[in-house]
Amino acid sequence: MGASMLDHLKANNRAWVERMVSADPDFFRRLEGQQTPEYLWIGCSDSRVPANEIVGIDPGELFVHRNVANLAPPQDANYLSVLQFAVEVLKVKHIMVVGHYGCSGVSAAVDGKRRGLVDHWLHPIREVYHEHHDALDAIPDWSARLDSLCELNVIRQVRNVASDVFVQEAWARGQDLRVHGWVYSLANGLVTDLDVTIERLGYQRKLAPDPQVKTEVNRLD
Ligand SMILES: [Zn+2]
Repeated sequence: MGASMLDHLKANNRAWVERMVSADPDFFRRLEGQQTPEYLWIGCSDSRVPANEIVGIDPGELFVHRNVANLAPPQDANYLSVLQFAVEVLKVKHIMVVGHYGCSGVSAAVDGKRRGLVDHWLHPIREVYHEHHDALDAIPDWSARLDSLCELNVIRQVRNVASDVFVQEAWARGQDLRVHGWVYSLANGLVTDLDVTIERLGYQRKLAPDPQVKTEVNRLD
């Protein structure tokens, strides 16, 4: 049964290649030659949140890092390697931290059950909860409270990315780079920009009293 399922995937792969080549005969030749994505997507591993499909762009246009509950932990070598490569080598112009409502990682962080290693991974979300527990506990509906925590988690991760030395150094060099916070809805497929975009945090801090300079919504076009 397992083998036939994989055969099905291989057949899908061949059909996909045929579709891509019939629409654009040079597609793979071009991709093979160069990877020049303008965007780094930091999203949840959840199978219902496929990065490229959601924003309707082809392979080669989006550099992707996914983990449980879309975290950007300052000590995680995997995330940091992706971030450094994206910022210093690919020179992406936008980094989007993309959470999603109904995230089971966010829910698992605060439901009080023990699961093992993932409890440690999700620790930063519990910290966010504790910091905002007055506001969150005032939301009577549990799933609405979790959705609010999803948004707060994204905002925290945006700050983590923006305060990272790789990003700070890029801004100090004058590199064009913005960090955005989005939330995706599993219910309707729509992305909401949380309007917490940061550019030149720290670099701006020396120049202006407000360290978090919000910018207009940066659309993907
Ligand atoms: Zn999730």
